[in-house]
Amino acid sequence: MHTRITLLFGRHDFEYDIYSLLKAFWPQAEISSGYAEEAGEEDLFTQDKETLCELTFREDGTDSETVCFRLTPLNAEDAAALKLSSEEEIYRETEVCLSWDRITIKNHVKELVYRTLSEETGVRLPWGDLTGIRPVKLMSGLLDSGLADDEAVKYMQDTWFVSNGKAKLALHTARREESIMRDFPAKEGYSLYIGIPFCPTICLYCSFGSHPLNRWKKKTDLYLDVLEKELLGVADMMQGRRPDTIYVGGGTPTSLSEQQLLRLMTFVGDTFVSDRLREFTVEAGRPDTITAEKLAVLRQFPVSRISVNPQTMNQQTLDRIGRQHTVEETAAAFILAREAGFDNINMDLIVGLPGEGEKEVAHTLEEIRKLGPDSLTVHSLALKRATRLHLFRDVYEEESFANSERIMEMTEQCAADLGMTPYYLYRQKNIAGNFENVGYARTGKACLYNILIMEQRQTILGTGSGASTKLILDDGRVERAENVKDLGQYLERIDEMLERKRELLRL
Ligand code: SF4
Repeated sequence: MHTRITLLFGRHDFEYDIYSLLKAFWPQAEISSGYAEEAGEEDLFTQDKETLCELTFREDGTDSETVCFRLTPLNAEDAAALKLSSEEEIYRETEVCLSWDRITIKNHVKELVYRTLSEETGVRLPWGDLTGIRPVKLMSGLLDSGLADDEAVKYMQDTWFVSNGKAKLALHTARREESIMRDFPAKEGYSLYIGIPFCPTICLYCSFGSHPLNRWKKKTDLYLDVLEKELLGVADMMQGRRPDTIYVGGGTPTSLSEQQLLRLMTFVGDTFVSDRLREFTVEAGRPDTITAEKLAVLRQFPVSRISVNPQTMNQQTLDRIGRQHTVEETAAAFILAREAGFDNINMDLIVGLPGEGEKEVAHTLEEIRKLGPDSLTVHSLALKRATRLHLFRDVYEEESFANSERIMEMTEQCAADLGMTPYYLYRQKNIAGNFENVGYARTGKACLYNILIMEQRQTILGTGSGASTKLILDDGRVERAENVKDLGQYLERIDEMLERKRELLRL
């Protein structure tokens, strides 16, 4: 049974930020939100049956108003579940000037809620009261404004209560990103994403809309037909201009047969590869799809980076999350890729998996050290609504979804031992322990595409079912066109997807 919280707002302001903060302190709680003036009218809220949080505003005069935060635990049991020291009502307020800009007012409101929850629960969040997904962008902004490194770190700590470790992580990532991007004219070019939405089995935590290969095997050739039509359409829209980076992801592109992979790579090679190509990534991903023959196919093309993704090196966890491959297969696939000549191999890890604590993560990192990849991407598990892990949350509740500062430090140390530093970072909603996803890489092995997409530095043309196209306008705004996620719909409605892209590019 999860604690239920009603979050009531006095007006339509800052809802997302406050909801996100509550969720960060209490990830397992079920939080429903609404507006105070509507409560009661349609019996929308159940204040007397749930713990109640209220954020209201009181006019004090013409120049200022008081922001009030009230937390009323339902009973002692709820208070204990929320780690509150008592079941008594908690009330705090702060004054804001109406002449302040919206961001300053928002910072004050978030500070009020963050301080209250932090003091009452004794919990400090690693990213403080930051609720956005791009802390590095904030850090870059501080550096661009002329702050020195230590001043920018201090500003993050003082303004948003970010821990010293995370502020430094943001700083190091921003500095490395800046050095990678320094001589790259991102705005002049574009990148191409190609999605292959098939996997041997579907992992419990998957939110990528991948499809089990055995169910769709008969349609994979048709998928490639339609995908090629889309790629040709994109080439036509770009009037012969070829991309700076190509990223083939999914799903698992190496789920395709050797012949299908050759067909796809030949098509992409002929249509998009040119001298201007800086990077060509293929996510081999699942070790159980990697063979010497498929690697040899990739080597015929200028593929510069591949991924072999263990997620964990603990067999029990792999079985539990539905990966259906062995730890030995991961190591063998990695060695095979090295033998095939790949000198930039990434490995993805997930921390916060059910049943995994420090001991299990330490074992995974030890095995990764032995293999020695060129880059490491560490994901903190996010409990997304659509995933099977979310659906089975109750079943796995007794298992740990824990992530901790210590575990994140262990991954950072492992990356450092392998000669890597952070180069990109982002956060997601409902991420385990309110941490982050970080990409570490050795010098010269960072993935340009990851920076371009995460920091919205370049237009990305997305192809394949569920792919997004993101157009970066001159003023920095981002306009999107989405492909449908449903595979059957994608196969039928490709002309519509192409038209969406054309319309977008007319902007
Ligand atoms: S390998 Fe990745 S895309 Fe495929 S099912 Fe697992 S999480 Fe989803």
